[in-house]
Amino acid sequence: KDFRNSIKPNWCPGCGDFSVQAAIQRAAANAGLTPENLAVVSGIGCSGRISGYIKSYGFHGIHGRSLPIAQGVKMANRDLTVIASGGDGDGFAIGMGHTVHAIRRNIDVTYIVMDNQIYGLTKGQTSPRSDVGFKTKSTPEGSVESSIGIMELALTAGATFVAQSFSTDLKDLVAIIEAGISHKGFSLINVFSPCVTYNKVNTYDWFKEHLVALDSIEGYDPQNRSLAMTTLMEHKGLVKGIIYQDKEKPSYQDLAHGYSKDALALQDLNLGEDTFKQLAAEFM
Ligand code: SF4
Repeated sequence: KDFRNSIKPNWCPGCGDFSVQAAIQRAAANAGLTPENLAVVSGIGCSGRISGYIKSYGFHGIHGRSLPIAQGVKMANRDLTVIASGGDGDGFAIGMGHTVHAIRRNIDVTYIVMDNQIYGLTKGQTSPRSDVGFKTKSTPEGSVESSIGIMELALTAGATFVAQSFSTDLKDLVAIIEAGISHKGFSLINVFSPCVTYNKVNTYDWFKEHLVALDSIEGYDPQNRSLAMTTLMEHKGLVKGIIYQDKEKPSYQDLAHGYSKDALALQDLNLGEDTFKQLAAEFM
């Protein structure tokens, strides 16, 4: 159950993504998975490299498209545990349409976003998660656009598992990823993963000062959707822990039996010449 491979990550020393990689590897081991029943699909960005650093099936896709690929993998082989991953620019800008539809589809995929509130790979531009006033090369006088409240948006879109964590909280992050993997349906895990090279505002110290642990809030109940929403609004989205989980709603796999009950990857494709002729005739 060793999910380490021989490839050395080329992230900057101190990048938050190292911890996310370690957390995925530990969570997969704790969940009893083996490399041959895990697939990690990623998009483009510094964090997109993660699929190459974990010993499993891997697919480094195109910008904003980790989720369509991950959903296709899950549809083809429901026996695989599928993790999609990438950055906030990848998932919440170019990939936002896919994110919202994967959430409402409730397909059994775990989506782990490394949220550093900046585009790191392209050397530091404002991202959809940057705060108003954030200065970068693309917004030298400060961003005038609001940051996307992604957790609130996920709740509105019908999410059944919404969680947030911080890359240095390794123990908590491992537990949250394990919970996301075992959740039957789509799980969105947003991880604050500081970019030490380009984001000099949202640093490790900044998150330590601002993040509020949900388990420190008396009476917080992750099964209460409206409480989840009001808590997020009260703390401007800066909370950590499992924000909301609906264990009752069936997943896409549960509902769409006709499409996904038998893994395509495990079917006998030796259909014979007559079957191919018959299929071809249907398209003529
Ligand atoms: Fe990490 Fe930022 Fe370096 Fe990219 S540029 S590897 S996000 S620290």
